[in-house]
Amino acid sequence: RPEDMMCSGCGVTIQTEDANKLGYAPQSALSRDVVICQRCFRLKHYNEVQDVSLTDDDFLQLLNQLGQKDALIVKIVDIFDFDGSWLQGLHRFVGNNPVLLVGNKVDLLPRSVNRRRLVHWMKKMASEFGLKPIGVHLMSAARNDEVSETARLIDKWREGKDVYIVGSTNVGKSTFINQLIKQFGGDDELMITTSNVPGTTLDMIDIPLDDGATMFDTPGIINHHQIHHAVGKDDLKTIIPQKEIKPKVFQLDDGQTLFFAGLARLDIVKSQGKAVVCYMSNELNIHRTKTEKADDLYENHLGELLSPPKTEDVSSFPKLKEQEFKLPEEKTDIVFSGLGWVTVHGEGSIVRAYVPEGVNVTLRPALI
Ligand code: GDP
Repeated sequence: RPEDMMCSGCGVTIQTEDANKLGYAPQSALSRDVVICQRCFRLKHYNEVQDVSLTDDDFLQLLNQLGQKDALIVKIVDIFDFDGSWLQGLHRFVGNNPVLLVGNKVDLLPRSVNRRRLVHWMKKMASEFGLKPIGVHLMSAARNDEVSETARLIDKWREGKDVYIVGSTNVGKSTFINQLIKQFGGDDELMITTSNVPGTTLDMIDIPLDDGATMFDTPGIINHHQIHHAVGKDDLKTIIPQKEIKPKVFQLDDGQTLFFAGLARLDIVKSQGKAVVCYMSNELNIHRTKTEKADDLYENHLGELLSPPKTEDVSSFPKLKEQEFKLPEEKTDIVFSGLGWVTVHGEGSIVRAYVPEGVNVTLRPALI
């Protein structure tokens, strides 16, 4: 019976009634050894996803469930987008359960980044966000860097209990779990859905651990203040870096502006240091201009010279809103949630940052 079956891709309960709803699989698919829902099938074979996301209510419910378990919580964040991929409020729900904090995608950061400093910074940030993790670790799930050490830490801290892997969408949870399955036995057919599109892991997937405990992959939660949600799916490939970031350095005077494609903008109002270093996807086009020309340029060339967004998405693209900052550090990072960050030199410099309505901009002492 279909309702007793689960998709081995995303874990959702299979149904054969409604092709537009979650978990649909055609009757003919049910006789296969490994059943996957149509959504996962499409993704696997055509690299195409239907857009489905977890509502905030469902998310709260999921968090609530975690507090009632006796388990190790493994919280994964995207180190390239730490704030943006942080699950707000998790600490209020986990009860007494220990949380292991894992920073994924460390391969994206320039090699010059000192990993020990980064771990230290993550601990500090976690504490500011109200979370006291029992451990902090860096890895690259995609490059299989430090994955087995992460597995060892999980095994150490879980003390025989179940494990819940949580994180917002796109942090690399599925990639990580697939690596674990690959390395620690298991069936390749059980590969979990991964994609560039936020919101593809739907229901909990359970993976048996050797002592009878279980590891659960929970659904990803969409963080709406990431820039990902303002662009089309194809554009995610441009925005989300795939390779080690090559920082781009600019020497900027007062009255100069950088456009990060058509997605964000930075004006140098009053510079105390000139040097501006951009840490964003290598594929993302950064355009330099005079601030006095910037509004016109944006108006006339959004979707062309300044793209993404694509021409056809321009009409639905949110208006940019500006925020002015006086920079508190000798080197300050201006973080554009989901897009990357820009290090501006010179304490007391005044800059204006522009992002689409709803997307976050934050400051932090320079990471690098
Ligand atoms: P999930 O939504 O948290 O399950 O995330 P996925 O595992 O589907 O990964 C989201 C995107 O990030 C995919 O395009 C992955 O290829 C990519 N990704 C996952 N892990 C890494 C990593 O360690 N480094 C890099 N550069 N990309 C990663």
